[in-house]
Amino acid sequence: MNRPWNFAAGPSTLPLDVLQQVAADLCDYQGSGTSVMEMSHRGKHYSRIRDEAEADLRTLLAVPDDFEVLFMQGGASAQNALVPLNLIGRNGLGRADYVLSGHWAKKSFVEAQRYGDIAVAATAETSQEIDGATYGSWCWLPEQSQWQVRQDAAYLHLCANETIGGIEQPVMPDMAALGAPEVPVVADMSSNILSRHIDFSRLGMVYAGAQKNAGPAGVTLVFVRKDLIGHASAQCPSVFDYAPVAKAQSMFNTPPTFAIYVAGLVFKWLIKQGGVAAMDAASTVKSRTLYQYLDASSLYESRIHPAVRSRMNVPFFLRDETLNAAFLAESEAAGLLALKGHKSVGGMRASLYNAMPLDGVQALITFMKDFEARHG
Ligand code: PMP
Repeated sequence: MNRPWNFAAGPSTLPLDVLQQVAADLCDYQGSGTSVMEMSHRGKHYSRIRDEAEADLRTLLAVPDDFEVLFMQGGASAQNALVPLNLIGRNGLGRADYVLSGHWAKKSFVEAQRYGDIAVAATAETSQEIDGATYGSWCWLPEQSQWQVRQDAAYLHLCANETIGGIEQPVMPDMAALGAPEVPVVADMSSNILSRHIDFSRLGMVYAGAQKNAGPAGVTLVFVRKDLIGHASAQCPSVFDYAPVAKAQSMFNTPPTFAIYVAGLVFKWLIKQGGVAAMDAASTVKSRTLYQYLDASSLYESRIHPAVRSRMNVPFFLRDETLNAAFLAESEAAGLLALKGHKSVGGMRASLYNAMPLDGVQALITFMKDFEARHG
């Protein structure tokens, strides 16, 4: 099978082994006589699929026992409302702080304003001079030591990887060093979950839509420390209240069974590849290979501060933007799909999720060199 390299930002490329397994099981799941889509979520086949998916996810990320793992619906966008609805009332003050690192963090911040007293802990919305160079809006990150966090905030929210801007938080913040040791950190890891070790000792909650590194769209992964739940506001729909969802093992209502099944196959594939440590190492090599090429090229450029460049999403620009249309048409003809940058940023973007091998990145660079030789 001749599969093109798919650099889409999400939904995005899935491992071919997983797709083939899904195809083999599609009409008759392992002799059950039914598709996974057709079976009861409370039956024996599906219960095993769900339990294994959670167990494998816990293994992959070494999730501590004091964290619940929830499979929810509504995507990461629903979590933008559900985080405040569930957590902001925790200490009775209704305050939360947000780090604005790009499009997605800002969206979370704007949504949260409907639910409480929301403050900005740090923002990269304006441009900034660093080491003699100027970085534009959402192209850099404020030093963690400069973040202003209220000691009595119910939580601090950040986006660990900005899918559109191409920024990744290198480490999770040390809240004691920020003078707010009791404030749990909530991280949106939609676009870098399962690509690196998660230091849960520095986090109160993590959430991620599955459709980039974890599976198809339709299921949202939520990891939440047990002591933080049980304080949802009266307005929070029960189906989105972490406490009853946890109690029902994510079967408070009918879960997105097919999406969880496919995500479960992705988890098994990840374990076979060597787990998150192997994905972390591969992500570093893949992204470094592309950034080194961009930095050395006279046609292409990355505009992101080198210390915070994402390993997952690599936006880049052609210095001569009149070549954009030719670049996109020729790359697609060469079997390199979905390289168009997000409309708010322009240029190009290559997403290098776990299912994209180094061969795909090398194929991209080979094409880019050839394009540069012809048009540069
Ligand atoms: N956060 C991030 C970092 C994202 O990349 C996305 C989707 N691209 C979202 C939130 C929104 O996710 P969803 O579409 O699953 O609601």
